Amino acid sequence: MNRSETEKAAAVLRMAVPRMSQHQIAATPRNYAVWYQYVEGSNPALKKRIDELLSRAVTFDDELNDSLFEEYVSECNLKRVSGIRDDIQEIIEDVNNTLAETGQQADDYGGVLDRFVRDLDEGSDTARLRELVKRLARETRDMRHATKELRERVERNAAEMEELKNQLEKVREEACTDPLTGLANRQALYDALQRVEESPSPDGDSLLLFDIDHFKRINDGYGHLVGDKVIRFVSGSIKKQAHGSALAARYGGEEFVLLLPGHSLEKAANIGEHVRKLVENAKLVRSDTKEPLGRITLSCGIARYRPGEATTAWLERADQALYRAKESGRNRVLVEAPGAPRARAS
Ligand code: GH3
Ligand code: MG
Ligand code: MG
Repeated sequence: MNRSETEKAAAVLRMAVPRMSQHQIAATPRNYAVWYQYVEGSNPALKKRIDELLSRAVTFDDELNDSLFEEYVSECNLKRVSGIRDDIQEIIEDVNNTLAETGQQADDYGGVLDRFVRDLDEGSDTARLRELVKRLARETRDMRHATKELRERVERNAAEMEELKNQLEKVREEACTDPLTGLANRQALYDALQRVEESPSPDGDSLLLFDIDHFKRINDGYGHLVGDKVIRFVSGSIKKQAHGSALAARYGGEEFVLLLPGHSLEKAANIGEHVRKLVENAKLVRSDTKEPLGRITLSCGIARYRPGEATTAWLERADQALYRAKESGRNRVLVEAPGAPRARAS
């Protein structure tokens, strides 16, 4: 971000705050993200909605604020949120630079005048000059005082910006995370798939799609809360296999994706098989009654990315392999059927 962009971001921040206080909107990071985008005008749908709300003079209560964030910011604008974070980082740096410059300037000014006073003391001549020096010295004191105040104000601003940046980082993380399992959510998965599309690995990139077998029976037999615990257990087993650039995501209710960049189908199948066994061999019990839940199993379909294709086609092939795993008896890991000759990266 260059200087004019930094100034623009600072201006947007300065305009967003009074708008929020005018409508008595709490200065939470989520609300901040909404009003930053509103003032900036980068999100036309959000702008249209808020303009319409303003024209009806509605009250911006917590419920409305939350719904604005959920509908217009969290899902579709992840990148925008991280953009705000970058802007704020730039502002902090800019403020810090100003601070350093101001301090240096004041010190220089003081030094020059001190020397001037010393010189005059040594070889003084006229009373008029003495008077002039006195005035200069007074001005120096005033300037030092003003500088000190400015410095304190800038320091406070910088601290506030830092806090805001941290809070927005938290918002961004929340926006990428599935709350039940702590895995990446669908949006974060799509971002990761796009990164593979942009630079596929020469070693291959594999995607595993898992679905818990007969999960409805677990819900029906033990209730949704127990069902949720099973989902957390299975997602934990998958997450354990996500090292380095790999990503474990919750794709749907009891469907999960393990994205393994740089993994051949064979390597991916070994990992899928490992997860399958982990889950199959777990002895889960109800925490309240200690009643065993019986065997939990899952099925898995695996596909490899074909450079140049849309990532939806990749997901679709993994889904077809999963479907075949279900059809052929469940509790198994199947790789995609060999398809058309694969386009190579180079
Ligand atoms: P299959 O072996 O063919 O996959 O059978 P299934 O019973 O698992 O069928 P399906 O995958 O269609 O079932 C998904 C069920 O998961 C339906 C839905 O009620 C339940 N579910 C989805 N999300 C959640 C959740 O967050 N918590 C709980 N407890 N259940 C969920
Ligand atoms: Mg399912
Ligand atoms: Mg299922």
